[in-house]
Amino acid sequence: MVNSTDVFVIGGGPAGLAAAIAARQQGFRVMVADGAEVPIDKPCGEGLMPDGIVALEKLGIAVEAEDSYPFHGIRFLSSGLAVDAPFPGGASGVGVRRTVLHRIMANHASNLGIDLLWRTAVTGISADGVHLSGRKVSARWIIGADGGNSRVRRWAKLDALRKQDRRYAFRQHYCVAPWTDRMELHWGERGEIYVTPVSEEQVCVVLISRNPKLRLQEALQQFPELQARLGAAEVASAEKGALTDTCKLRRVSRGNVALIGDASGTVDAITGEGLCLSFSQAMVLADCLRAGDLTRYEREHRRLALRPLLMARLMLTLDGRPRLQRRTLQVFRKRPEVFRRLLELHVGILSPLHLALDGLTLGWGLLTV
Ligand SMILES: Cc1cc2nc3c(=O)[nH]c(=O)nc-3n(C[C@H](O)[C@H](O)[C@H](O)COP(=O)(O)OP(=O)(O)OC[C@H]3O[C@@H](n4cnc5c(N)ncnc54)[C@H](O)[C@@H]3O)c2cc1C
Repeated sequence: MVNSTDVFVIGGGPAGLAAAIAARQQGFRVMVADGAEVPIDKPCGEGLMPDGIVALEKLGIAVEAEDSYPFHGIRFLSSGLAVDAPFPGGASGVGVRRTVLHRIMANHASNLGIDLLWRTAVTGISADGVHLSGRKVSARWIIGADGGNSRVRRWAKLDALRKQDRRYAFRQHYCVAPWTDRMELHWGERGEIYVTPVSEEQVCVVLISRNPKLRLQEALQQFPELQARLGAAEVASAEKGALTDTCKLRRVSRGNVALIGDASGTVDAITGEGLCLSFSQAMVLADCLRAGDLTRYEREHRRLALRPLLMARLMLTLDGRPRLQRRTLQVFRKRPEVFRRLLELHVGILSPLHLALDGLTLGWGLLTV
């Protein structure tokens, strides 16, 4: 049994596996422990935006066509109105079942020689290592990738949080052939539903609202178009719930401990950016480990979060405001280039500065429509 490593990753979800793979690519010996068993499921919209696919490719991972379903843009729908835009440059995103993505990532990590310890909960950390049930593994670096309720964050005293906009999400799969090549976001009075195609015969549906008691079946009644498509369809998975919020930390590292993924802060699920963000963090973190300098990770981590945080803020202004949703969609229909440019911002082609002008156009449109 190996009792020392260069990098120990606590949590083997997508962020932990990405961190492990990126560190291994830099030549480190890497160990990952997770209390659960592969493949791990978790409520998720299961959409990977084009920039997420590029980030995965840099980790040496390709999601094959038979494991996923492509979508080529985003569609917003609200009270009978719809607008959509393709991803810039003909790019595509993919819908991929969470369990499938997890298995692909775990297989890749294992092929790279990463030591994967499943069903192994970490019980504590000390300056020179990690405590597992009845065993200690010494490690030069410790990475906390243990999700939104991170214990590593507490152990490393990185707990100063600013949380905003806590909401409740429920996910379920339906046996129905995708009816569009877009990821759809349906805006409603009591919440949003987004639909991602994940295979030739299944879609993943996520409801997000501020009401913990609202479930998909009841919420669908407010979305007649979706109800018509899904009402009679067989459900393919149990309804799973999760919290979603925007959460920022003052610091994401201390000493030889660094946080990544949801453990290091979250962006609202509506952005569909959580996975991509953690893959990008992983590559920067591995670079910083090689240089032996986590101060750059602090800076880069903040920079990477800027765009998703801005998108979350923009999108959440529409939450629960049907009149604003309708007016915004009317403006987008009149000025489709504004919606296209928002999408460019979303996938990282456009900088927030470039969008300022469109912001003025949108504001003017909302006043005059
Ligand atoms: C409803 C919803 C929809 C979303 N939709 C999308 C989307 O469409 N696209 C997108 O990109 N992102 C989406 N996200 C965000 C995305 O799911 C998260 O950002 C992502 O799961 C973060 O991964 P993670 O590895 O940081 O955390 P997790 O997936 O939570 O993994 C943490 C792991 O740590 C393990 N662990 C915890 N404690 C310990 C311990 N003490 N010892 C060992 N192991 C431990 C857990 O078992 C778990 O496997 C969505 C989120 C929600 C809630």
